[in-house]
Amino acid sequence: MALPRIDWPEGLHPDTLAIRDGLPRTAWGENSEALFLTSCFVHPDAETAARRFANEEDAFVYSRFSNPNVTIMERRLAALEGTSGCIGTASGMAAITLLVMSLLKAGDHIVCSQSVFGSTIRLLVGEFGKFGVETTLVPQTDVAAWAAARRTNTKLFFAETPTNPLGEICDIRALADLAHEAGALLVVDNCMCSPALQQPVKFGADIVMHSGTKFLDGQGRVIAGALCADEALVRSRFEPLVRTAGMSLSPFNAWVVAKGLETLSVRLHAQSERALELARWLESHPAVARVHYPGLASHPQHALAMHQQGGRGGAVLAFDVKGGRAEAFGVIDATRVLSIAGNFGDVRSIITHPASTTHGRLSEDQRRAAGIGQGLIRLGVGLEHIADLKADLARGLDALALTLSP
Ligand SMILES: *Cc1c(COP(=O)(O)O)cnc(C)c1O
Repeated sequence: MALPRIDWPEGLHPDTLAIRDGLPRTAWGENSEALFLTSCFVHPDAETAARRFANEEDAFVYSRFSNPNVTIMERRLAALEGTSGCIGTASGMAAITLLVMSLLKAGDHIVCSQSVFGSTIRLLVGEFGKFGVETTLVPQTDVAAWAAARRTNTKLFFAETPTNPLGEICDIRALADLAHEAGALLVVDNCMCSPALQQPVKFGADIVMHSGTKFLDGQGRVIAGALCADEALVRSRFEPLVRTAGMSLSPFNAWVVAKGLETLSVRLHAQSERALELARWLESHPAVARVHYPGLASHPQHALAMHQQGGRGGAVLAFDVKGGRAEAFGVIDATRVLSIAGNFGDVRSIITHPASTTHGRLSEDQRRAAGIGQGLIRLGVGLEHIADLKADLARGLDALALTLSP
């Protein structure tokens, strides 16, 4: 017996399922999902308990294994990503830990973009390196380098697109074909776009990884993560390890993310529109040297980004001010509405100086190789009124422009 499903008519749009799907209502008939803060679940008799513990019958047993709020979040996210299965995890990094621990063993090999999230590189290279899993880092956009890095023991390709903060795109279809030729799986970290803009499985990816902390929650409240994949893989590999190793998503955080998913699509579309307008405005500002945003026609991979991201650039952009650290700090410190923080994916716009914060642990050489200069500023564009966002940035940028005038 499987967990009950709601009996929907055929063919509902994922946006509808993101609001409506989950588990049938309880006997109380609540309209909005209840919060199930319970560590364990009660069984009608000893025989049933034995069957459930032996996995012969699907039911909730213990919230390290699963919980109704976690299942609701998983079903909604799977509907959005277009996968048959999904598993929630305690954080985005816990999702990557689950991925590698469940699918690889000592002697296996990963090919990974060198531009992925910094903690991802430290986890794969540093931590899993200790256990004999080797990772080769390759340039994000160089398909030939991905092909050349393959070995007979390659089990995973790991990509993130667009990258943070420079918005480099990788060709998901090309990487999926290369991975499959080598008998490996392609995993795509889809944090930057979310499934509201980009569904990597449509382009051949096998597994989609998420930090629920970003756009899925969308209001900067909780830490959460997930892996989306075929249900058979989720059930055979991911669920047993979460049950044993305990990188489980908390019911409360799952409830918050499930609520966030209800508005994901409208938020991403509105935040993307604001980001595009800001990017165009910044591109024409005399104090800005360069804008990095896949939604701009000037982006070197604009066409590929539009193809993969439903015609939208996403809600994260970066720009280089004319000058270095002092000039960038001047623009950041002149803002009065934006939050100076290291996150993105929030309805509150966030401004970040990557070189001294999110990418501060890199050496100056590594940063230069990654294209992250001291004059670079990242914006996680939220939902405030566009005029207020522009005015907040214009305060520092206009002052900087005056100092540049001949
Ligand atoms: C934040 C982030 C992660 C890690 O997620 P946590 O929920 O913070 O563990 C992974 N990848 C990307 C692209 C991220 O932005």
